[in-house]
Amino acid sequence: MIITLKKGASKAELDMVLEKIKKLGYKPHISKGKEVTIIGMIGEYAEKYKDIFESMQIVEHVSVIQKAYKLASREFHKADTVIKITKNIEIGAKKIHVMAGPCAIENREIVFGLAKSLKASGATILRGGAFKPRSSPYTFQGLGEKGLKILKAAGEKYRMPIVSEVMTVEQVPLLEKYCDIVQIGARNIQNYDLLKAVGKQKKPVLLKRGMATTVKEFLLSAEYILSQGNYNVMLCERGIRTFEDSTRFTLDLNAVCVLKKLSHLPVVLDPSHGTGVREYVATMAKACVAAGADALVIEVHPKPEEAFSDGPQSLLPDQFDKMMKELALIAKAIGREI
Ligand code: PEP
Ligand code: MN
Repeated sequence: MIITLKKGASKAELDMVLEKIKKLGYKPHISKGKEVTIIGMIGEYAEKYKDIFESMQIVEHVSVIQKAYKLASREFHKADTVIKITKNIEIGAKKIHVMAGPCAIENREIVFGLAKSLKASGATILRGGAFKPRSSPYTFQGLGEKGLKILKAAGEKYRMPIVSEVMTVEQVPLLEKYCDIVQIGARNIQNYDLLKAVGKQKKPVLLKRGMATTVKEFLLSAEYILSQGNYNVMLCERGIRTFEDSTRFTLDLNAVCVLKKLSHLPVVLDPSHGTGVREYVATMAKACVAAGADALVIEVHPKPEEAFSDGPQSLLPDQFDKMMKELALIAKAIGREI
């Protein structure tokens, strides 16, 4: 249920409404717009208290959100959400940010080398996995905390915020400590305990769609995080499983339009995992920018043939550089920048 306050409501009046919500056993979620303040009263059977709030002097109107996901919906928050990562980096604003780096953090030399060249090519956020969800238990599982230290040091040296994946509830404090953005991977999209745990920590979350997750399920997973009080969630489309097997996954570009319509959260696109084929990444990245992506995830490796994971889809640094120049033209054509 959404409670919209009258224009110019004072802090005392807002507090009064918040108190009432809490007294009824619900958690209030505040969304402050330019002119009006909206309060989400979310929880089972919240609608039954509609009359109580409608009769309050300071309340403009009360409406019920029909969608199963509430805080993630456009009904709750009309304007696009812009997420501040650092002083200069905002996701969801005019500039499209590129999160680039290796699939996995393998060693210091590779990460520092990549950070230097990716930054020079225009990437603004450095990525790399320290905890890797691998299909086989016999393949490289990631460097763990040692990897996070490397990524953080490279990010500091080249002034790039960093993003890395968290796989378990126990790892959350570690990722929160080292990273600027905490990533939930496709395979954990419906790990509800993990979603709640990242919802309780303070860093923005990059939530990757599962390979067999509908848009509704995706938004409900985002809702788990938002419901815990972390409103900084980015929705990342990274390809879904279809009957098509000429690419690793099928990048669902339709999802950009659908997500933008249904939700206010920034949309991130990952053409690296979405195609799984180096040769197709730049073309699909251009399509992602044209479709309205707020940020991109791109895997890059100096020696893809030797990469511990996802080598076949990793761009070489010079291919990344060329792609960035092309993306700049597309971004400009649609009134954005990269
Ligand atoms: C990754 O970003 O390296 C990754 C494992 O992605 P996904 O969870 O989308 O497969
Ligand atoms: Mn990968």
